[in-house]
Amino acid sequence: MKIGILSRKSNLYSTSRLVEAARARGHQAEVIDTLRCYMNITSAQPTIHFKGAPLDTYDAVIPRIGASITFYGAAVVRQLEMMGVFCVNDSVAITRGRDKLRSLQLLSKKGIGLPITGFAHSLDEIQDLIKMVGGPPLVIKFLEGTQGIGVILVETSKAARSVLEAFFGLKVNIMVQEYIKEAGGADIRCFVVGGKVVAAMKRQAESPEEFRSNLHRGGIATPVEITEEERTMAIRAAHIIGLNVAGIDIVRSHRGPLIMEVNASPGLEGIEKTTGVDVAGAIIQFVEKGVK
Ligand code: ADP
Ligand code: MG
Repeated sequence: MKIGILSRKSNLYSTSRLVEAARARGHQAEVIDTLRCYMNITSAQPTIHFKGAPLDTYDAVIPRIGASITFYGAAVVRQLEMMGVFCVNDSVAITRGRDKLRSLQLLSKKGIGLPITGFAHSLDEIQDLIKMVGGPPLVIKFLEGTQGIGVILVETSKAARSVLEAFFGLKVNIMVQEYIKEAGGADIRCFVVGGKVVAAMKRQAESPEEFRSNLHRGGIATPVEITEEERTMAIRAAHIIGLNVAGIDIVRSHRGPLIMEVNASPGLEGIEKTTGVDVAGAIIQFVEKGVK
């Protein structure tokens, strides 16, 4: 098979591991720089050009779309879908997964456990919004943040009010969330491929002062045994968002596991190095089944 990895850089760990895993299983693999693709949207014959020539024909494409290029990346994936190329995650699922609010709304409809989350536009009802999510301490999040940037813990109503006022003033979309204190700065990343959890790790914030477990914020990862409930929840969440490959983040709360976040282009480095699982290989195996 000829497999394309849609990614900005070939030297990123995840990208190079996917290339390596594809080649190890006897496939041809190439990295396609997402931003160097351009599209011809004509009826009957949609095409993609790449660096001045029509893009080669691929049997399958693995999209690795960074948060900063979601819009353009999703357009490239959509164009590939129009051309009949098998895409590991489709453009609609990528777009859904990237929007924290949209994915939580979809999950809530299906009864998946979530932290209580509020979203508002007007400053007038801030007091009620704060009350709705259980009062302080609470978490305020940028809708399109990643790697823990734009996730703020506020301890008092007064602080919450000022932070919300500031962000509303700047016209950024933010949501307000119940703080899951008992998670103790930890969460569980479940790596889902083709309806199975292929690997899981626990991420723990680096110090007691930090509540964000992101590895980019100094979080420390260890392998973890997940419960059947957590496994089922991760698989269901990926399915509801429509992702074949997903990083599903779960926090352990007093009322059971809750979904914190869904990632459409989860990194491979942390999970592979922590668990020793060949996650890239699992993705390539999924591609083989999907193309067949
Ligand atoms: P990002 O997309 O930036 O990773 P997340 O929503 O995943 O944003 O939040 C980053 C981290 O902050 C989470 O992994 C978790 O450790 C912590 N966190 C976020 N929201 C809450 C919350 N409501 N309660 C407790 N911890 C939280
Ligand atoms: Mg996260």
